[in-house]
Amino acid sequence: MLNEKDLRLQISALCASLFQRGFSVGTAGNVSAKIGDDILMTPTNSTLGAIDPDRISKLDANGNHLAGDKPTKEFFLHRAFYRSRPECGAVVHLHSTWATAMSCLEETDPDDCIPPLTPYVVMRVGTVKLVPYIRPGDPAAGDRITALNGKYAAVLLANHGPVVSGHDLFSAVCAAEELEETAKLLMITRGQRTRLLSRADIADLKRSFANM
Ligand code: ZN
Repeated sequence: MLNEKDLRLQISALCASLFQRGFSVGTAGNVSAKIGDDILMTPTNSTLGAIDPDRISKLDANGNHLAGDKPTKEFFLHRAFYRSRPECGAVVHLHSTWATAMSCLEETDPDDCIPPLTPYVVMRVGTVKLVPYIRPGDPAAGDRITALNGKYAAVLLANHGPVVSGHDLFSAVCAAEELEETAKLLMITRGQRTRLLSRADIADLKRSFANM
């Protein structure tokens, strides 16, 4: 478990890494992580490429602003995961290109947005649920996530982008990257006969990786 100073440094470093590799552009995307009962969150109108560790927002469990710059306007997406998944230690929200493309497709299955193309997306992300389109900044998106009762570690906001949770910040970032890369694979194999993992393949993975 990192202390607050080191967690702030980790948030800044991983946000910069996401930005430098094109998972986020401009001021899109936001990241948070729990520290005790409180939450550290990237500030509003900030770019993930240059998050100052000392200015990261600090909120209590109810979303009250305790310190640092004002938090992202999309803080309710994060709060919904912390409230509905007690094991959640971090949340990553991106407008990453391929996952967002899938969030715009009519043919995307709302109950299984990212079909099991590789074992890695099954292990790191699991089933991804679509949240119907809601205007950015409308807290109703948080209500829709809370209503899923913690069943999903990741959702895709229609015409917007993914929100991915994890036990800690590193695992949430890795899961967000895995989701994006799998969305890319799904898009570039579209229209071709593709073999998805079977239920038996997935059951075998779950037996072999009990910590999934
Ligand atoms: Zn967003």
